[in-house]
Amino acid sequence: ISSGFKEAKLKFKGKATLTEENIKEATSAIRKSLLEADVEYGVTKTFIKRVQEKALGQEVTLKAGKAQSKMKVSPADHFINICQEELEGLMGPVDSELKYAVNRPTSIMMVGLQGTGKTTTTGKIASFLKNQKKRKPMLVAADIYRPAAAQQLKVLGERIGVPVFHIEGENPVVICEEAKKKAFEWECDTILYDTAGRLTIDETLMTELADIKSSTSPDNILLVCDAMMGQDAVTTAKSFDELLEISGVVMTKLDGDARGGAALSIKEVTGKPIKFLGMGEELDRLEEFRPEGLASRILGMGDVVGLMQDFERVVEDDQEDQAMRMLQGQFSYTDFYKQIEMIQKMGSLKDLVAKLPMQDMFPQGAEVDDRELLKIKAMISSMTKKERLGADNLDQSRMQRIAKGSGRAVKEVQELHQKFTGMKKMMSMMGKNMGGMMGKIPGM
Ligand code: GDP
Ligand code: MG
Repeated sequence: ISSGFKEAKLKFKGKATLTEENIKEATSAIRKSLLEADVEYGVTKTFIKRVQEKALGQEVTLKAGKAQSKMKVSPADHFINICQEELEGLMGPVDSELKYAVNRPTSIMMVGLQGTGKTTTTGKIASFLKNQKKRKPMLVAADIYRPAAAQQLKVLGERIGVPVFHIEGENPVVICEEAKKKAFEWECDTILYDTAGRLTIDETLMTELADIKSSTSPDNILLVCDAMMGQDAVTTAKSFDELLEISGVVMTKLDGDARGGAALSIKEVTGKPIKFLGMGEELDRLEEFRPEGLASRILGMGDVVGLMQDFERVVEDDQEDQAMRMLQGQFSYTDFYKQIEMIQKMGSLKDLVAKLPMQDMFPQGAEVDDRELLKIKAMISSMTKKERLGADNLDQSRMQRIAKGSGRAVKEVQELHQKFTGMKKMMSMMGKNMGGMMGKIPGM
């Protein structure tokens, strides 16, 4: 989607104000890309209308107001701000909290079509509840159709240290009812039911899910939707909600090529909030939903808060200073080396880059390769301590030595040094841009 927003931004290049004409041009670029990204037609239409109205309103105030001279923001920024607000409005307000029961275990019933990521997400949420919310979850394998489904859940449970309940050969309703009793015995305060899915919605599945619902009365029913399904995810959400009255949605596989078109429509179409986002196959790749994060990502502005949260997850106290130094443009190759190790801990580069605020600087479709990091680490390892700290300037003969030591070409070392110097500048720019924002992030 973001390409359309970039195109829209270009329409304002060199323009001093928002006019009816350039607003029209910009919104039509956006309309096209939203539709291409599978955002529902009605939702797109509403969105465009709201943006146009707001932008036209801005035009008037810009023309009329004395404020104009004070305002340093360009029309393009104004326009993107409006888009951001409206995108957030479409997906918000935020309601990522689960409903917790008092004096008895809280229950969460996971539903969704086959292959959307139900079982994985059940594990992710259990892990989130255990680590972040200090709860004692248990998993219930209630998918008796898919071969080895119970086994899959047991493996997940073992990895996160959460008990798994299943009765071989029993029907799902009985399994879930027995699980409720087991929760007291195991002293668990949260029960997650992992139910079966089908390829499409059919009556047998829906009847089974309705039976489980009425016999267990879950506090939360979470529908797992695959972002790659595009518009179909929205239709599915609508049907599940009509039949089961879901509490919210988990949108999975947002780490792939899907840019979240479906996420835009679900709230507007079903009225049910998105609670979590699935960002990868690993069990820690779950994020609580923040519309502003997804909105900026869609706008191609990156998700700075998400990025900072990733930092927080892996950054130890002394490394936090390093991140600050990096953003102040003071970092050395030694810091850089540590940063690479940190980045490697955060997940794949592609996910991280998607969150960076300077999306415009990356060529379209540029591939980020995790192997590059290994090469860079090798080159930095071959530098002397003084070279790493920037005390010794990297001249030709030093570069040759580094190349030899790391088994890379001299040209690669030169490129690294060029990029490093450029990056240092860029990071310090980014640091300045984030100045206001960082103040708001606890611990920063
Ligand atoms: P279920 O049939 O709904 O229970 O789906 P599974 O949990 O078995 O997941 C199906 C496939 O999707 C598996 O290969 C998962 O690893 C993968 N998957 C689940 N969530 C995500 C996600 O957020 N991102 C990516 N890339 N893959 C995911
Ligand atoms: Mg499953």
